[in-house]
Amino acid sequence: MYDLLLKGGTILDPSQIIHQRMDLAITGNKISQLSPSIAETEAAEVVDVAGKIVTPGLIDIHTHVFAPVRERNINHPDMAGVFGGVTTVADAGSPGPGNFQDFSEVVLEQAQTKVYSFLSIFRDRSSGMMTEESDIDVDGVVKVAQERPGLVKGVKVLVYPRTVQAMGLRHVEAARAAAREAGIRIMMHIGDIGPKDQIPTSPEVTRQALSMLEPGDIITHVLSPLNGAALDPEGKLFPELKEAQERGVILDPAYGDFNFSWERAEAVLSQGLIPDTIGTDIEIQSGVGMRAVSTRGLLEYMAFFLDLGFSLEEVVRMTTVNPAKGLGIEHRSGSLEVGREADVSVLEVLEGRWQLTDAIGVSRVGSKALVPVATIKSGQVIEPGEGLHPWGWAPPTAVEAGVEVSD
Ligand SMILES: [Zn+2]
Repeated sequence: MYDLLLKGGTILDPSQIIHQRMDLAITGNKISQLSPSIAETEAAEVVDVAGKIVTPGLIDIHTHVFAPVRERNINHPDMAGVFGGVTTVADAGSPGPGNFQDFSEVVLEQAQTKVYSFLSIFRDRSSGMMTEESDIDVDGVVKVAQERPGLVKGVKVLVYPRTVQAMGLRHVEAARAAAREAGIRIMMHIGDIGPKDQIPTSPEVTRQALSMLEPGDIITHVLSPLNGAALDPEGKLFPELKEAQERGVILDPAYGDFNFSWERAEAVLSQGLIPDTIGTDIEIQSGVGMRAVSTRGLLEYMAFFLDLGFSLEEVVRMTTVNPAKGLGIEHRSGSLEVGREADVSVLEVLEGRWQLTDAIGVSRVGSKALVPVATIKSGQVIEPGEGLHPWGWAPPTAVEAGVEVSD
């Protein structure tokens, strides 16, 4: 007897090259059967998922979820996770070793979503501008990573104009030292976020930073229109990016507030660089109003890639098996193989006219959107929450379509 049967859905699991109608059974917290037909009488609970897409639990490799946990609160980190069809998120450097304990207590222990951490190489990012070398904490990162090996997957470092002005790339060197000693990865931010009048990162510095990464490390914001991201000031792809990807560095296009434009995405893709993952850089923080028109979660950002011409299989690969490799958790996550932990996302593809707006205000009308139907985390069924937008999870509808957004 199975505990739970997902009946009648389309299984889409790139890790096993499966895209077909199948039933999926769960026993306890494990996937116990995947078969063209499993009888309803064999399961204690049956969920009808006919017409829905059933994928391995989706993974958002770049989030910020250092928020106090309150029950169903709109600032709840699970808004980036299980409420929105995502079973696993990685927090990209919100805490450093100096405030990891707070993060651990308020987020890691209490969220239903599995949360991993890339620790900031700076001791405590909330208290500094990342311009003081004395705030770098290699020993702290190594210590926390060794104490919490199941949670800390990497160290976050930013190639950020103010930091580069202050210390060159010594913070990147420090992150490298910490990563090698602790056996974790580096996630490197590229792109000049910040005031317009700052001294832009020079192409030489960006290229040098990119060449410092090793297999398994991650470069984030590769579709950012900002200076210092994937293209040089003449619009040519930095060759070090492709070289990095060829040696096994993972390329992530996290959006955040500033780091995606349609024009830049087309320019990067047309020069042959294809991102490996899809991270959102979503911020779930105390006091930040989450149910906003402009906030997008992972499923919504996936629709941007469908519109760029990626197939559904490709975007699911970029949010399952690929980020699992990026986090070094491919042995436990990112697949619906029998015997795996039962992390499953049930999604619906909505046809329509969806407004997909980039960071510089350019909108495209997409014909497909994804919304969460249910999330299964370690065998537990979790209903989607209220949604990140005032009207729910779907993207804004296109103004041109004249469709009212419903509550
Ligand atoms: Zn970020």
